[in-house]
Amino acid sequence: MLTDKIALVTGAGRGIGRAIAVEMARAGADVALVYERNGEAAQETQRLVETFGRSARTYACDVGDFQAVKATVSQVLADFGGLDILVNNAGITRDGLAMVMPPEQFTAVIQTNLTGAFYMIRQVCGHFVRKRGGRIINISSVSGMMGNAGQCNYAAAKAGMIGLTKTIAREMAGRNITCNAIAPGFIETDMTGDLPQKVRETALTQIPMGRMGNPKDIADLAVFLASEKASYITGEVIKVDGGLYI
Ligand code: NDP
Repeated sequence: MLTDKIALVTGAGRGIGRAIAVEMARAGADVALVYERNGEAAQETQRLVETFGRSARTYACDVGDFQAVKATVSQVLADFGGLDILVNNAGITRDGLAMVMPPEQFTAVIQTNLTGAFYMIRQVCGHFVRKRGGRIINISSVSGMMGNAGQCNYAAAKAGMIGLTKTIAREMAGRNITCNAIAPGFIETDMTGDLPQKVRETALTQIPMGRMGNPKDIADLAVFLASEKASYITGEVIKVDGGLYI
């Protein structure tokens, strides 16, 4: 489905990003793996990609740092000779109630989750425009659609990603570049692994399918959105949440 395509996945060391990198490799793509701090995890993703006979390289880059993003995208283009797919998956949570949240806690989440996605798009789009084609997939969240108590920073960033997705879709459609968002519900990763048992149990009661999702549930959709089969889909937000937000 993605034979000889080149993908850049942010937050590719762990969780959903790793699954996206692996499933894209299984579908035939080479993958540039962007992570922030955990180089060992990123190298393990690289090893998994290589088991499919595809090439992968790891890049340490804080997506919230514009100069770092600029340098990383240039390096990826030099290393791989091009780029076809961008997946903005890197994300953090810093939960707390709005009435007591320190301002830096709010802006840190916006900077990584939303501004970081913009920085990546900003650096990649010139290349996509010149080659008249490209796929952008933003990993948002159902929190950005329904709100979530304790996550005003995260929900605002994820809602912002939806506006970013729809705007980029409109700006780039004429150049054969699609931009879509995936909105996961509760997915089993390190991010949700930190949640107290009580919160997990309450969350499960709200999911009609009665279980948390797997990273592969998100990755399979990302592969589809990156493929030719999705060439007429743009500006869309697709939930993968077991019915959490129907
Ligand atoms: P994890 O916490 O398991 O992994 C996060 C990844 O993002 C890591 O690879 C981490 O790098 C990377 N990262 C964090 N900050 C930065 C940064 N500033 N620059 C570059 N990379 C960074 O998260 P998940 O796999 O659970 O989540 C992936 C995405 O899916 C996130 O955007 C999240 O908001 C979203 N999502 C997750 C849900 C879930 O239930 N898990 C639900 C809805 C949305 P490193 O390994 O180096 O630390």
